[in-house]
Amino acid sequence: MKFVTFELEGRARPGLWLDDGILDIEQVVPAADRILFASVLSIVANNDKTIGILKQVLDSGNSLKGALIDASRCRLLAPIPRPAKNVFCVGRNYVEHVAEGYSARGLELKLPEYPQFFTKPPTAVVGPDAEIPFQPDVMEKLDYEVELAVIIGKTGRNIAPRDALDHIFGYSIINDLTARDLQRRHDQWFKGKGLDSSCPFGPWIVHREEISDPQKLTIRLSVNGEIRQEATTAQMIFDLPRIIADLSRGMTLEAGDIIATGTPSGVGYARQPPSFLVPGDVVQCEIGGIGVLTNRIAASRMS
Ligand code: MG
Repeated sequence: MKFVTFELEGRARPGLWLDDGILDIEQVVPAADRILFASVLSIVANNDKTIGILKQVLDSGNSLKGALIDASRCRLLAPIPRPAKNVFCVGRNYVEHVAEGYSARGLELKLPEYPQFFTKPPTAVVGPDAEIPFQPDVMEKLDYEVELAVIIGKTGRNIAPRDALDHIFGYSIINDLTARDLQRRHDQWFKGKGLDSSCPFGPWIVHREEISDPQKLTIRLSVNGEIRQEATTAQMIFDLPRIIADLSRGMTLEAGDIIATGTPSGVGYARQPPSFLVPGDVVQCEIGGIGVLTNRIAASRMS
């Protein structure tokens, strides 16, 4: 199942992305259960009930035609348009990316022993096909980072690595857009990675049952059709169980929390010469088994 949040006639609601359209979930679930399906976040938080109900609907053999909406009539938002809290992120999680970062700064390679965590605020989240306003009055060096996003489905604390995958609801794609000049200037990464529209997320959340091994996914990013990043999630330094175990030590992870799990090599600042995003650029993030997240950098706009 691919969970989307779609907007039609000014109203956002949850749906399932199917081959022949978007299934309007509120039209097909029993009225008594509808409250559980008020949003994708609610579906995730109540997944012990919601997934079973949706499977029954899909398997019932009843015609769903009346509840299918032509995708061209809708606008997709981020699958969770307004996360309840900051998006957790892992820095420096692919060997080649760590290496290119050290090399770009003329330093000797040293691999991390523990995952590096930071966050992006909920106000940074935007959906597929959203235009990213370039803010020349705020920053100059806008860079891209394609990342596998994990959506937590079961609340937990001190989660053991062997139990970690049971806490995942599903997977999506995040582009960890970064203002490199602000990231360096302010030393701590939050400002440079927290600007409005700096967290494109989507196009949907794929339920975990459809991803047999999340550490064997191709991950790729292109700018205007030119491939800039290409790797597999097998190249992560810290795999998903380790990330979830470390992050949840002494800190509760809740259903609906989102973790962006780091980016492979090929980012703009480490290229020779460095190459940053400019208005008009189209950035496509693609992860095998999940889909494609496309965003365009919009013409300069002072605000
Ligand atoms: Mg990143």
